[in-house]
Amino acid sequence: MSSKKNKTELYELGEFQLIDRLTESFKPKNASTAFGIGDDCAVISPKGKKMVVTTDLLLEGIHFDLTYFPLKHLGYKSVIVNISDVYAMNATPTQITVSLGISKRFCVEDLEDLYAGIKLACDRYGVDLVGGDTSSSFTGLTISITAIGEVNESDIVYRSGAQVNDLICVTGNLGAAYMGLQLLEREKRVFESNSTAKPELKEYEYILERILKPEARKNFIEELKEKGIKPTSMIDISDGLSSELLHICKNSEKGCRIYIEKIPIDEQTSQMAEELGIEPTVAALNGGEDYELLFTVPISTLETITQMKGVSIIGHITEQSTGAYLVTQSNDEIKLTAQGWNSLKKE
Ligand code: ADP
Ligand code: MG
Repeated sequence: MSSKKNKTELYELGEFQLIDRLTESFKPKNASTAFGIGDDCAVISPKGKKMVVTTDLLLEGIHFDLTYFPLKHLGYKSVIVNISDVYAMNATPTQITVSLGISKRFCVEDLEDLYAGIKLACDRYGVDLVGGDTSSSFTGLTISITAIGEVNESDIVYRSGAQVNDLICVTGNLGAAYMGLQLLEREKRVFESNSTAKPELKEYEYILERILKPEARKNFIEELKEKGIKPTSMIDISDGLSSELLHICKNSEKGCRIYIEKIPIDEQTSQMAEELGIEPTVAALNGGEDYELLFTVPISTLETITQMKGVSIIGHITEQSTGAYLVTQSNDEIKLTAQGWNSLKKE
């Protein structure tokens, strides 16, 4: 893995020294972290709040490809994908645990890179690393992160609260991470057929950043709170707009109409899509890993929401009997289907 000169093989350290080395720079910041790393369990004391818990499993070859994914970025992203789920409950992430399956292919310095990314995300989002597990594996790298967050009971937002006539909103823009991934895959194929080829990645920094270094929508959750708005339902967009919106509709027992021209798509996403012959809207609907938030709010908040930067109103909630549809510019209605980029899906 590592091309570094000073490689330390994992067996040179052993499990406990390795854990110490990887975690020594993490110092708890949250009052609710009563005890972190170093005993059989961490101790968390949420003081009158509710705790939310979420886990993600990331497998090499399924969820990430280390030929173009730097380990530091992978560490960062592994934290982000988890705390994004915490924000989607309208909660504040406070602790994570990190569990690793590591093959002999990796050296200590590789894992230090991974943890440098984990640390960066923890520092940026105010989260404490409070534990984990470490095991050897036969092949590849496995990362499982569990994130814990806290929230006042009355602030929790589920997927199930959308009401008829609510506005459907998204933060940021969609499809960028998917187009970034397509670009990386294309360059990988070029490199595999001609190893002297130089990757053509200029002009596309933004979409590459969206796949390699996503962010969670912390600011946005804070802004909504400041403005006194509580969404009626919310979900983070990890599998594409279409499938996430269907989750909200199903759990809320409602239908929806979203309008194609309202879906926010960045210019680089459109450019890359055009280059590769993909419809940008399809990338937004069915691509994944944007980690934007999709939420519904009462129509009475229209004015405030319209003034919020980086939030787009893309449609509204309807009765369940009217179905879930995308409305085109010529007023055709296309049924929304869930084609999230499910790793179990056949190619
Ligand atoms: P146990 O044998 O009780 O599972 P370990 O020896 O695996 O305990 O872990 C010792 C301490 O180090 C525990 O606090 C555990 O949560 C933490 N830990 C183990 N692996 C990791 C890791 N990869 N990242 C962060 N903390 C870890
Ligand atoms: Mg253990």
